[in-house]
Amino acid sequence: MMKFDIVTIFPEIFESYLNESIIKRAQKEQLIKIKVHNLRDFTGDIHQTVDDRPFGGGRGMVMKVEPIYKAVKAIKGPKAKVLLFSPRGKKFNQKKAFEFSKLGQLIMICGRYEGIDERVAEYIADETISIGDYVLMGGEIAAVVVIESVARLIPGVIGKLELLKERLSKEKGFIVYPQYTRPETFSPKKRVEWKVPEVLLSGNHKRIKEWRKKYSKIVGESSKE
Ligand code: SAM
Repeated sequence: MMKFDIVTIFPEIFESYLNESIIKRAQKEQLIKIKVHNLRDFTGDIHQTVDDRPFGGGRGMVMKVEPIYKAVKAIKGPKAKVLLFSPRGKKFNQKKAFEFSKLGQLIMICGRYEGIDERVAEYIADETISIGDYVLMGGEIAAVVVIESVARLIPGVIGKLELLKERLSKEKGFIVYPQYTRPETFSPKKRVEWKVPEVLLSGNHKRIKEWRKKYSKIVGESSKE
């Protein structure tokens, strides 16, 4: 069973996500375990301080190293990988998701404010990850992105292993193509018809396969570090 541990100052963000159908079932069936840890529980002062002013001056607050050190120390098992989220990190991709899906435990540290004391990246985290070339307000959504892409690679989480294999290219990219469902023709207004491509209604499996191949995209195959 793979464990995901999230360290955050906003644990409430994850409440409804953890009750989402697939994630909920995967936990019930003990395929994955997700635990959310409130960073404030690892502070030593009455105000549960997690941030302080930046050395060198400047606006905003910086998350302190001590509570994060204590949290990781308390959570970390023998085969854990510690991830830190930062827009300055290595870009997350499908290849990384496959790599992480083989782990026993993934600890994710979510930043807020102006960022996190750099000693967390230097001494505590094994990897610093960015989910894209933009700046978010916090790392919580990045943690959900990582769980969404990693958990679905764990056998049983999104159904049968065969289904997952069918969608994988040789180089372990995901084959994705356009999908349609009923009705065959949708009329949003008079004299306008949005039709499903005829080939998909033909029952000709060879032609359907060719059509899907033509319009498919392989996601992740050429992912670079
Ligand atoms: N100036 C900060 C820095 O250089 O890291 C930006 C801090 S950002 C406002 C607050 C937090 O959001 C970061 O500490 C990080 O955890 C998260 N974050 C922001 N953009 C992100 C991205 N593209 N990928 C992953 N996490 C991100």
